Amino acid sequence: MRVHILGSGTSSGVPVIGCHCKVCKSSDPKNHRTRASIALSEGDRTLLIDTSPEMRLQVLRAGIESIDGLLYTHMHSDHTAGFDDLRAFFFKSRKSLDCYLLPEYSEELKARFRYAFEDTGYYGLTPQVTLHAIPDEPFTFAGFDIETVRLVHGNVGSCGFRFGRFAYVTDFKHFPQSKIREWRGKIDVMVASGIHFGTHSTHSVIPETLQLFDDLGVKRGIISHLAHDVDYVEHAALLPNFAEYAFDGMTIDLEGLVS
Ligand SMILES: [Zn+2]
Ligand SMILES: [Zn+2]
Ligand SMILES: [Zn+2]
Repeated sequence: MRVHILGSGTSSGVPVIGCHCKVCKSSDPKNHRTRASIALSEGDRTLLIDTSPEMRLQVLRAGIESIDGLLYTHMHSDHTAGFDDLRAFFFKSRKSLDCYLLPEYSEELKARFRYAFEDTGYYGLTPQVTLHAIPDEPFTFAGFDIETVRLVHGNVGSCGFRFGRFAYVTDFKHFPQSKIREWRGKIDVMVASGIHFGTHSTHSVIPETLQLFDDLGVKRGIISHLAHDVDYVEHAALLPNFAEYAFDGMTIDLEGLVS
């Protein structure tokens, strides 16, 4: 199984429009961050997590030509705004795309993209997506065995995912202790949001994310959803040996790690 980091940036992306800071002006491509999203691939199956505003550019760069399923973490715009570009997958597959999301999110997705879910008189092809509610128990989707964790993220929450010995959690302030006990020692590689080294009311910041990696016993922790405060090279020294920053276009080979 392979993980593609499609986007590693926080909601504004990096560079931030109008910002002249060192990271925004950096020529290092690892400091250029589109909005957070990943894809998992195993054999000829690919699962996309979230549709960031740059989804089309992200999948083109990753060489992804088709997807077998879509998961949503939550409904914030930086994780959903690329929804319309799902049309491209229908052009190829000619079938509706299965999408799993927490049951309380489906009305919001339908409200955000009403033209795709009801007859609004819109003339043209809309995204063809079939929604399914993420169950409370582990489930299998597109050939991937999935367990979930409900995360606290301001007043909206977010859904984290574990695929065997790999986990992806983004956009959270609080990770439940009960799930730390349940998942401890079961995750080798984890990608989790970390924003920056400052404070944030709705997001885990880097020191908190590092603590979570430690609490879970993660062997390789990759910090994503990064803001323009983090310079990929300069701030690498602030991380312990088992942790690193994500960057757009990064791939992680989990061969032998994830069942
Ligand atoms: Zn976000
Ligand atoms: Zn900046
Ligand atoms: Zn969010």
